Amino acid sequence: MDKSHEIAIAGAGPAGLAAALYLKRAGHKVTVFERFDEPKPVGSGLMLQPTGLTVLADLGLLDEILSLGSRIERLHGTDAKSGRTVLDVRYDARRGRRFGLAVHRAALFGVLYRAARGAEIPVQTNVEIETLERGERARPVCANGKRLGPFDLVVDASGARSRLRQGLDDKAVPRQLAYGAFWASLGWRDGFDEKALLQRYDKASIMVGVLPIGRPETNSGTMAAFFWSLKPADAEQVRAAGLDAWKARVVSVWPACEAFTGQINSFEQLSLARYGHHTMRLPAGRRLAVIGDAAHSTSPQLGQGANMALLDAAALSHALARTNSIDEALAAYVSARRWHVRIFQALSLSLTPFYQSDSVTLPFVRDWAVAALAKIPPGPQFLAAMVAGTVVDPFRPIGLAELRWPAAG
Ligand SMILES: Cc1cc2nc3c(=O)[nH]c(=O)nc-3n(C[C@H](O)[C@H](O)[C@H](O)COP(=O)(O)OP(=O)(O)OC[C@H]3O[C@@H](n4cnc5c(N)ncnc54)[C@H](O)[C@@H]3O)c2cc1C
Repeated sequence: MDKSHEIAIAGAGPAGLAAALYLKRAGHKVTVFERFDEPKPVGSGLMLQPTGLTVLADLGLLDEILSLGSRIERLHGTDAKSGRTVLDVRYDARRGRRFGLAVHRAALFGVLYRAARGAEIPVQTNVEIETLERGERARPVCANGKRLGPFDLVVDASGARSRLRQGLDDKAVPRQLAYGAFWASLGWRDGFDEKALLQRYDKASIMVGVLPIGRPETNSGTMAAFFWSLKPADAEQVRAAGLDAWKARVVSVWPACEAFTGQINSFEQLSLARYGHHTMRLPAGRRLAVIGDAAHSTSPQLGQGANMALLDAAALSHALARTNSIDEALAAYVSARRWHVRIFQALSLSLTPFYQSDSVTLPFVRDWAVAALAKIPPGPQFLAAMVAGTVVDPFRPIGLAELRWPAAG
């Protein structure tokens, strides 16, 4: 499509900023609206998978994110009581040289945000978009009643609690999952594998994890994301029992983690993450595209959310470029992402209880059947593709080719 459109994007998270970069690059007039006073990342670290890294490479941002993040070659899980390895997934089991990149959220945000500023994309802050008036063109309406626009297209990238999508037939309210986690970003400590996501489990009700996440910015020290699985409903009780009791519990599961718990002086340093799950069947409506967590949210067990958000952004831009009207582009966007999103949402929903639930049977199956299967081809290859986000090809339908993997540095 040759025509340049005026496009509003609600939300300056990974989905919104990546979409802004793609759409501006394609010649559209783009404005990002963010509810915070200052755009900022929320939370600790996350895993960029080969899918998300391919999108960042396509945006010309690979070297910058690689210089900040920490290359992850494998995911390794151990039963806390027996010390037995129950999960060992290697990225390169599927395709040589593939890896994941664990990043501090501020690093991902900084890379995308600097690129948006460099591309002179206006980011208007302190604007909370609530609804949309849709006629010939679309007018986002703010929480204070102010009407913006009009725009040819509005992109809802406002995250799992999106209000904008409520105007569509598919309301898709996220279902709260039983388990969440305490997360903290802490100083990196030697003695842990710098190229692995390490987890310890006791059944599925206890999980403690350490992820090396590199640096939030060039001049800072290297960090770890540290997490402890718990039910949000129990968090108050855990806090009431006191920090020392919680630390003792963590160290009883994984003694070496004293290196991290020793850096925690108050529960204020731990953010309580709640996980929800929803998948919109039709993440688009008249003059409205829904992308990222607004369209599909899930637990981070498979580490796909930000990567899917980046893929959605690439898909929307690709759909606009190869169709003749916004309606056609929206249909093409939905169709290009349909199977990848549905399959990974289903995988995430079905796998989460093996790692975070009160079940006794599921972790037993995980520790014996799955651990054995993971050693017999094509088990390792399937698990690697699942973690990488490539069980079904996410690239071709959105006009991308997987990045050429740089040699390990
Ligand atoms: C603890 C935890 C760990 C995770 N780990 C991983 C991982 O390892 N790998 C992975 O890929 N994913 C992970 N995820 C998921 C990942 O964080 C999300 O999938 C990703 O952030 C989604 O990006 P988004 O841009 O769609 O939404 P968000 O990141 O939620 O961004 C939405 C933006 O919209 C703004 N906004 C909200 N409402 C409005 C409004 N009304 N008007 C204007 N602006 C608004 C918000 O302030 C925010 O800036 C994890 C999530 C959690 C909670």
